[in-house]
Order: sequence, then C-alpha cells, then structure tokens
Amino acid sequence: MKSIYGFSYPELEEEMLSLGQSKFRAKQIYAWLYKKDVTSFDEMTDISKAFRDELKSRYDFYVPECTVRQESKDGTVKSLFRMKDGEEVESVLMHYVYGYAVCVSSQVGCNMGCAFCASGLLKRKRNLTAEEMLGQVLSYDRYLKEKDENLRVSHVVVMGTGEPFDNYDNVLSFVRNVNSPFGLDIGARHITVSTCGIVPGILRFGKEGLQINLAISLHAPDDERRDRLMPINKAYPLEKLIPAIIQYYKDSGGRRCTFEYVMIKDFNDSIADAKKLYNLIYPTHGFVNLIPLNPVKEKGLLRSDDERIDAFHRYLLSKGIKSTIRKEFGSDIDAACGQLRAKYANK
Ligand code: SAH
Repeated sequence: MKSIYGFSYPELEEEMLSLGQSKFRAKQIYAWLYKKDVTSFDEMTDISKAFRDELKSRYDFYVPECTVRQESKDGTVKSLFRMKDGEEVESVLMHYVYGYAVCVSSQVGCNMGCAFCASGLLKRKRNLTAEEMLGQVLSYDRYLKEKDENLRVSHVVVMGTGEPFDNYDNVLSFVRNVNSPFGLDIGARHITVSTCGIVPGILRFGKEGLQINLAISLHAPDDERRDRLMPINKAYPLEKLIPAIIQYYKDSGGRRCTFEYVMIKDFNDSIADAKKLYNLIYPTHGFVNLIPLNPVKEKGLLRSDDERIDAFHRYLLSKGIKSTIRKEFGSDIDAACGQLRAKYANK
C-alpha cells in the first residue's frame, strides 16, 4: 500500500484526477495532513464517507518509526528511524538563532566513499522514498510542537546519509512536498540540497525552476587532492564540475551555490590552498562554508586548528568571497555524519 505522505502536491492532484475526483481533493487532504496533523482518513470530515473508504483501501499513513532519540546539551537532537524493511537511517535537529533545521538522510548507507565521512562506513542498501524522508521532518515537527505549540521546523537540509542526486526523483518529490504552501510550507530558500558533485544532477536541478539552495561538497582545491578524498571526482573531475556549476547559475536565473569545504589538518588548510580555492570558484559566484572536520575514528584524519581555519576564512573574505565557518552541534551525541547509525549497526 502506498503512503499518503509519499505524494508531492502536484502528484496528489494527479492521483485525485485519476480516481475521478476533482483536484481540490488534494488541497483538502494536504490541509488535514500538514496543517491539522491528523493520522486517519476518518478525521477528514469534509470528505464523504464513501470517498474516505476508498482512500483507506488505497493508502496508509506510513512514516518510519523513531527508535532512538538523543538530546544534546546544546539542544541538538539526533534520531534513528526504522523503516518497514528493518533498515535504519538517522537525522538531526539543530537549533539556530533563526529557527530549527532538520538534516535529512536520503539513502540507507552511501556509496560515495568519501575518505572523511562516517556515512560511507555502511554501503548503500537502497534509496529512501519521499515519505521516508518526509517522516524524518514530521517527526521533529511533532517533537517541537509537543514542547511548545508555536515551534516548528523552519529549515530542511538534505545533508544526512546518502547522495541526494543518486536518488533524484524521490528527493525532488520530497522537497516539493515540504515546500508546498498547502503542506509544511517551508520556504524554498530555507531548503538546501547537498551533492558530492554529480554533474547530471546539478544540471537537471538548475532547470527545475525552484528557489531551493544547492550546496556542493568540494573539500579540495585541485583534482589531485579531491581524488584522494572523494572517489566521485574520478567520474566528475573539476574541469566538468565547475562548468556545470556555472551552467547551473545561468539556468537557475542566478542562484549561487554554497561550496562546502571540510578543513583537514595539514591537508587542505593553508593560505596557498585558500588562493587555489579562490581561483577555482570565483567564476561560479558561489559562497564557501568552511566545515571544521568532525574526526571519525576509523578514518585517521585530523581537524585543522582554529587559527588555520580563521586565516583561511579571512583570506576568502578579503577576496570578496562570502564565507562562513560552520557551527558545531551535538559533539556529545555522535552528531558527525553517519556516526549514530554506524554505532547501532555495530552492536
Ligand atoms: N552526499 C552529499 C550529502 C551528504 S554529506 C554530499 O556529499 O554533499 C553532507 C556534508 O557533510 C558534506 O559536505 C560532507 O562532505 C560533510 N561531511 C561528511 N563527513 C564529515 C565529517 N566527518 N566532518 C565534517 N563534514 C563531513
């Protein structure tokens, strides 16, 4: 049976038409699901009993079950979700001054094999469906509402385990769903999709006509080092990646991507590297988000010293590149990418 949470708004309109109903049904159902948070068709009292019965025979309210929830002293919450087939994924809620962001996983495990990342310790088993991604957001939305009726998830980043452009259609259905004004109504500018650099996905994303942010995990200023960190660079080296980002900028009407750059001690953190990075990215109009490496025991890489990160940051700013240093969350609760699931999988 298909989950009713698995439809983006346009998909649900299509579905209602195919059942001989008017498109308006989608609006009614969305309001019940996402504004009133009901979890049964019988509560949808503006829909006739006969059609409610038909809905019941076709769809359920499946979302993954939250099995572990760890709350950090700084307000970060990390959860593990178990799905129908027993597979598990993790996601994180982060409390910023401007709101609450959920970091969503898009796959069970990951095949990208980045040298510094814990997610890839477990290989990809399958893609997540749209409802499995949405369920992660709904779970935190309900968690916040329980604390205070006025709190809700305000930002969504697809930066958890998995490569979103390796699961393109489901990710797009999911982000359209959270973005829908009839649904969770999270503004496109509050949604970010992060890719390791899958060029066809970047080009396709630029033509979607969405205002959703794109982040590119770059992490090195040249092919030699990017090859060592990220196997995907063999398939899409910088000479392909950078032009694709320039094309994305054109196709999307001037949307500027954010380059994520993980700071690894004595590997990619010198001023010479900052210069190289600047030369590489200035034609793209992109921003830079510097990420102090969250060291994963199995990987043996170290985090750059704060002074190095600051100097790198100041260099980029001096060249007119808007850049930030990522704030760290939940270091007391295994909050580095993929750490929680890996820990439970090892047990
Ligand atoms: N596959 C996508 C999204 C998941 S990774 C991508 O590659 O962008 C999300 C971000 O977290 C990426 O920028 C990734 O490089 C970064 N990341 C992974 N492991 C990390 C670690 N140990 N420390 C800091 N950042 C990490």
